[in-house]
Amino acid sequence: MIYADNAATTAMSEAAINTMISLIKDTYGNPSSLYSFGQAAKEVLEKAREDIAGIIGADPREIIFTSGGSEADNQAIISAARLGEKNGKKHIISSAFEHHAVLHTLNKLAKEGFEITLLDVHENGIIKPEEVAAAIREDTALVTIMYANNEIGTVQDIKGIGAVCKEKGVLFHTDAVQAIGHLHIDVKDQNIDMLSASAHKFHGPKGVGFLYARKGIKLTNLIEGGAQEKGRRAGTENVPGIAAMATALGEAVKDIDKNTERLIQVRDKVIAGLKEIPHSALNGDEKNRLPGNINFCFEGIEGESLLLLLDDKGIAASSGSACTSGSLDPSHVLLAIGRVHDVAHGSLRLSLGEDITDEEADYIVKSVKEVVEYLRGFSPVWRDLVAGKTQFIL
Ligand SMILES: *Cc1c(COP(=O)(O)O)cnc(C)c1O
Repeated sequence: MIYADNAATTAMSEAAINTMISLIKDTYGNPSSLYSFGQAAKEVLEKAREDIAGIIGADPREIIFTSGGSEADNQAIISAARLGEKNGKKHIISSAFEHHAVLHTLNKLAKEGFEITLLDVHENGIIKPEEVAAAIREDTALVTIMYANNEIGTVQDIKGIGAVCKEKGVLFHTDAVQAIGHLHIDVKDQNIDMLSASAHKFHGPKGVGFLYARKGIKLTNLIEGGAQEKGRRAGTENVPGIAAMATALGEAVKDIDKNTERLIQVRDKVIAGLKEIPHSALNGDEKNRLPGNINFCFEGIEGESLLLLLDDKGIAASSGSACTSGSLDPSHVLLAIGRVHDVAHGSLRLSLGEDITDEEADYIVKSVKEVVEYLRGFSPVWRDLVAGKTQFIL
């Protein structure tokens, strides 16, 4: 089995599993309890906070633990909206290809009367800082632009966008769920005011993540209750999960350069191999993309059938994101980069893990080529294209 769906979730690392098990067994006190058994859990919690803060160049007080990336995105955006509206600012800038955790939160705010500008991400999936600058108005409360896209893997000039926001005095949030642990992040150097992260995208456990919010930004609570997380997020902390997240992130950043170099090499080999398939196209900028991300469209086939046949060959991949697969709508990300519906339906995302071997990469290329050819063999859409009844797009 070759797991090539690391953008959907990753396997937990051995070290993260061990951290989690030992804490579940031995350190199950409530960190809010004053006796030493609770305080031991509190120490673990605060050590994790320090470690994570250190990794992204933040202060520990700027880290709020959440249930994952979605919650962090929701809290960041709602908080900025509440701060903005106090000063009559009800305009938010984002992009058309954000994760649904961002887009659906923005939809909710639009119903409350916020005006949302979704920037064009162009054919290559890249937004220029100048375009952000041009969209900022007197009443802009927030710019929220993802660090790296979860489907096509394109990576934005976060420092550049952050600098524009800083200069204009507008809050800047980035959904860094796909980037953290895979790319170097320094929130101060990159002018980031708020950042969302999720442990299960970097070999940590599911159901745990964090929000970085620069000191001085007043957060709105999404969950009311106890005074955990300095009153910013109620509920007894998931100590084993949080500590395992810190372990996983520590490991990920320790090996980042080595992993990146190797993944890019394998990724580019797979991209070159898949480009040999006629009427295919890579989605997203070829160089400005996550080290392990490959996303293609193949004309004349259905992404779903492609996935099932690859599964038969022992390859786990994805078509669109996990949230949209299962629905018949083509991916909003592929539509945002200008792919038409028919072409967007025939998409494949391979997100490679650090442990991918050269043999596995070759096997993936060979298998995708076989499966695409097989499916085209009995696709009426393909037959019409070949017969000249319809026009090839790719
Ligand atoms: C996975 C993902 C999320 C959601 O994170 P969860 O922890 O699963 O809630 C948000 N944004 C991006 C870009 C993601 O890839």
